[in-house]
Amino acid sequence: MKMILLGAPGAGKGTQAERLCKVLNIPTISTGNILRAAVKNGTPTGKQAEAYMKAGKLVPDEVIIGIIHDRLDEDDCKNGYILDGFPRTIPQAEALDAALAESLEKAGIRFDDVISIEIPDEAIMERMSGRRVCEHCGASYHLVAVPPKVPGVCDSCGGKLIQRHDDEPETVKHRLEVYHKETEPLKDFYAERGLLRSVENQPSVEATTKAILNALGR
Ligand code: AMP
Repeated sequence: MKMILLGAPGAGKGTQAERLCKVLNIPTISTGNILRAAVKNGTPTGKQAEAYMKAGKLVPDEVIIGIIHDRLDEDDCKNGYILDGFPRTIPQAEALDAALAESLEKAGIRFDDVISIEIPDEAIMERMSGRRVCEHCGASYHLVAVPPKVPGVCDSCGGKLIQRHDDEPETVKHRLEVYHKETEPLKDFYAERGLLRSVENQPSVEATTKAILNALGR
């Protein structure tokens, strides 16, 4: 199964992807996590991406498309994957279609499902202030909604939990503007292909996972 998770920054894509990949037994590919690791390790890609990320801007399509090409070639993607944070622009979606057409799955529908998590901007502004991520493995938490078992420590790997620079309020505002302008048009792109399923954000993480699985017919 191949699936795309769409939604504004802070809609809960990362949290849901981590839960869904366990239920569906396929890996999650998060371009945000790949980029953060590249920045941390000081790779050439990381150096190219860092300033854009700090400013809440999109990293140029060529850089992202290169990353995705490499990642989808890895062995663990053979049975499918969940894409979290990619595609984020129409050119990225077109590049994804082209990349898949080159590989084995030539004909027909390229993606089983595109899920868009819907949540108002105001709720996101509130939510982002409490978000913490593991600096080691990228797992995400929320001080109130999804607290770690031990404060400041990642449940999965024991890494330190930090607030991302780009979760600061001014940057979040800018990221939301970028989302509405650059990424939201993807909803029409996939709706026209009959793939889009919109899921309203629910009061709890568990209820949203259930709503997504329901939309997937599981
Ligand atoms: P995320 O963790 O998905 O919110 O991504 C964090 C930041 O990484 C974004 O604000 C962008 O600067 C960059 N980024 C992640 N994925 C993409 C993408 N598909 N296209 C462009 N920039 C991206």
